[in-house]
Amino acid sequence: MTVSTPITQDVLTIPRKLPDGPMNLVGLTRAQMRDVLIEHGTPEKQAKMRVGQIWQWIYEKGVRDFAVMSNLAKTYRAELAEHFVIEVPEVVSKQVSLDGTRKYLMRIAGGHEVETVYIPEEDRGTLCISSQVGCTLTCSFCHTGTQKLVRNLTTAEIIGQVLVARDDLGEWPEPGAPKNETRLLSNIVLMGMGEPLYNFDNVRDAMKIAMDPEGISLSRRRITLSTSGVVPEIAKTAQEIGCQLAISFHATTDEVRDKLVPINKKWNIMELLDALRTYPKVSNSERITFEYVMLKDVNDTDADARRLVKLIKGIPAKINLIPFNEWPGSPYERSDWSRIEAFADIIYKAGYASPIRTPRGEDIMAACGQLKSATERARKSKKAIEAEAGL
Ligand code: SAH
Ligand code: SF4
Repeated sequence: MTVSTPITQDVLTIPRKLPDGPMNLVGLTRAQMRDVLIEHGTPEKQAKMRVGQIWQWIYEKGVRDFAVMSNLAKTYRAELAEHFVIEVPEVVSKQVSLDGTRKYLMRIAGGHEVETVYIPEEDRGTLCISSQVGCTLTCSFCHTGTQKLVRNLTTAEIIGQVLVARDDLGEWPEPGAPKNETRLLSNIVLMGMGEPLYNFDNVRDAMKIAMDPEGISLSRRRITLSTSGVVPEIAKTAQEIGCQLAISFHATTDEVRDKLVPINKKWNIMELLDALRTYPKVSNSERITFEYVMLKDVNDTDADARRLVKLIKGIPAKINLIPFNEWPGSPYERSDWSRIEAFADIIYKAGYASPIRTPRGEDIMAACGQLKSATERARKSKKAIEAEAGL
């Protein structure tokens, strides 16, 4: 018997501070960092300046050791080291695809693991980061959705993925290096494991850190958040993050979308589209990306393409067609190439950009929707075995 996972936001978020342990400074907003510094003895008058200095060491220079922070007094550095740490997720393994895509398996508190993928392209380098361990949603074509164990990532674990990737890419500038060189890590997409809008506060704070001009300094136009359609959080995303938005649309009737993206039963296509109409204006972004996974004989007819165009009329949009990426035991097949092209053609002729996403890192299971850590897989199958045995 299979147990369906309920649609819920009630997933665990671990506390930032372990009892009696040093506190991690990574993932704190500037205001939070100021508060904890004052709490631990930094004079209030100096706190803002100290935050600025520490912030630059962590996010601009990639430093993890207080001892190196040469513009702080030695005694102050020692005090910091007594109360705080600068901690990022631990890399358990790294795989590099034939096409240069890198997949990192990272271990976080509690022994959980998440995956992060770096995709180099000619004009950019995109880091695909995770927002949850697993996902409470159960989209039927997505490997992550079959993983039962779920917890929200903390802000530190979300931004930590960026810091770890920069370590691996060796992208911490030498003092005095020009700022405008082409970056290896130039874009972030929240398209890894998890539904980012079910972990809103932590995702928002992490992206604010990524955008901070005195640190990682990525423009909000270079950050894309992908959601399956958590309607009430979409307006908040526009107001509080202001990044680019991608929607996992995937079907043109409620009947089909209910099956593919079950959150549709909660907020259907019309409610979703209504929420999207105001997004570009409020967030001052140009276009919303509609993601559409191409599943053979499920959602890939000419009629689907025409309905899609009709539905999104009036919304500044681009449609990203994603050839389905298979995973062990997946219940669908990828649409034929000629079908995908015919579908793309209808959309293009209706006046929308309709790029077909080239699957990247397929040989290392790093493509969209294939992420699911081996450990969690093993854990689940052991549980399943136990359940079958009546344990
Ligand atoms: N939870 C968020 C973000 C993660 S998924 C969301 O659903 O939007 C990133 C994108 O990959 C989504 O559009 C998702 O629907 C798509 N995807 C999931 N599994 C896939 C698969 N097996 N093949 C192709 N795309 C997939
Ligand atoms: Fe979760 Fe997104 Fe996968 Fe759906 S597609 S199960 S929302 S990660």
